[in-house]
Amino acid sequence: MSDCLFCKMVAGEIQPDVVFEDDKVLAFRDINPQAPTHILIIPRQHVPTLNELTDAELGGHILKTAAAIAKQEGLAEDGYRTVFNCNRHGGQDVFHLHLHLLGGRQMTWPPG
Ligand code: 5GP
Ligand code: ZN
Repeated sequence: MSDCLFCKMVAGEIQPDVVFEDDKVLAFRDINPQAPTHILIIPRQHVPTLNELTDAELGGHILKTAAAIAKQEGLAEDGYRTVFNCNRHGGQDVFHLHLHLLGGRQMTWPPG
């Protein structure tokens, strides 16, 4: 997807602050952090929203990657939040699947 911001990051046309990458995913710091630690984990493959995710193994890998990064960032013990925003009601702005990993402060519930 040549017009997708996150595909441009996967292709190396835009260089985010990468914290982890492998053959399936890329993880980088959010440009507008909503917590002291705010990282996005994306599949290298273009999947627009959670509705189009068919590869369960890829979904599991995204989740396991978030947990590993949380540990690496020192968030595991105090805790953290992971979020997939989907479409309009979910508040999704970038239509390339991404898992938000937020930590470093007390979260509230329910989310706004
Ligand atoms: P969404 O609202 O789609 O769930 O989240 C999109 C996220 O992407 C937002 O938290 C936003 O700050 C982040 N974002 C948008 N553009 C860029 C960018 O160019 N670089 C980085 N690192 N993050 C971005
Ligand atoms: Zn994309």
